[in-house]
Parts: sequence; C-alpha cells; structure tokens
Amino acid sequence: MGSIVLFGPPGAGKGTQAQRIMDQTGLPQVSTGDMLRAAVKSGTPVGKEAKGYMERGELVPDQVILALIRDRIQEPDAANGVMFDGFPRTVPQAVALSEMTDISHVLAIDVPDGRIVERICGRATCGNCGTVYHDTFNPVPASGCPCGDYQEKRRADDNEGTVLNRLEAYHQQTSPLAAWYDERGVFHRVDGDRAIDEITTDLLAVLN
Ligand SMILES: [Zn+2]
Repeated sequence: MGSIVLFGPPGAGKGTQAQRIMDQTGLPQVSTGDMLRAAVKSGTPVGKEAKGYMERGELVPDQVILALIRDRIQEPDAANGVMFDGFPRTVPQAVALSEMTDISHVLAIDVPDGRIVERICGRATCGNCGTVYHDTFNPVPASGCPCGDYQEKRRADDNEGTVLNRLEAYHQQTSPLAAWYDERGVFHRVDGDRAIDEITTDLLAVLN
C-alpha cells in the first residue's frame, strides 16, 4: 500500500473515519492546515514564508505547501505512506503530489447533499451544559435539558443556505480531482449515508 487521500463533504463524519483508518493502518494523518499552523508557530523557514502570505490574507502558494509535505513524508513514521486530509484540492496539486509519493487509494465518503443538510441543520447546543441536540435525531427532552437550565445555542452557519453553499464548493473542488484519480484507477467511493461502523468496514475493505 502507498499513501491514501481522504475526501468527504462537511458533515460526512470524515474526522471520525480518518481516526479509525489511522488506528487500523498505522498510517499517520497529514493535514496541510495543521502542518502550516505548526510551521508558522515554530518559525521554520517555510513557516516564515507561509506567515507572510497568511498575514496579507493571500492563499499560501502550492510550492510552499508542497515543501512542507516533502519534508513531512521523509520522516520515519511516513515510511509506509501517509493519509492526506485536506490535500490535494486541485488537479495541479495532485499532479505535484504524485511526483513525490505513490497514492495507492483515494477514498471519497459519499453522502447525498440532502442528508448532510438534515444532519447539520437542526443542531442545537445547550449553552449551560454543552449537550448537543438535534431537532430530528436527538431532540431536547420534553422535560428540558437534564442540566435543568436549557439555553439553546445554534451556530449561524448551520442553516440550509450556508450548508448548500459549502457543499457546492466541495463538489466543484473535488469533481475534477475524482475524475483525475479515477483515470488512474485509484478512486473509490464509499456510501457514507449509513452507520459509522459500516462505513469504516467498507473503507478498510477497499484498503485491504
Ligand atoms: Zn443543558
């Protein structure tokens, strides 16, 4: 096996599945967002360069991110490959990545947009005790929150319009990548509209 790329729309449970794949395969997760923040914090040369772009509100150029990845995959724990999360986002990035490391599997967790909207919209949190509720799947008990002082909190971006916009951006970004990886025979779609354990089973079956 080589390295893995994991795709999934917001609200598809990608974080949970990423953790399970790491536990089962031993591959370390490589999140370019985390790596950038760490490099900036520790003041490495690449970090300093990245910081300049971020402070100017500009996108960090591909060559900076690719330099971080190049260093990361030289580390001993990456000898058997890594699991990329949040990268690549464009076909040129995928091309550059393929010149650096062998991508053996691209896994896309597939959930219909309508189901994502259902899952994300209707979320509410008790501001007093932190319990997370959902209007449909986990409603606040008729007797109120067990903490005795239910204070409803909803995230402003948990509404249908915002979620649909984020999903649209996700599809626009991933569909060329899916096609590019599909041509290379490494793209796999897994039905993510099921129980968490079933999704994990399918993802691991693709990898074995
Ligand atoms: Zn409460």
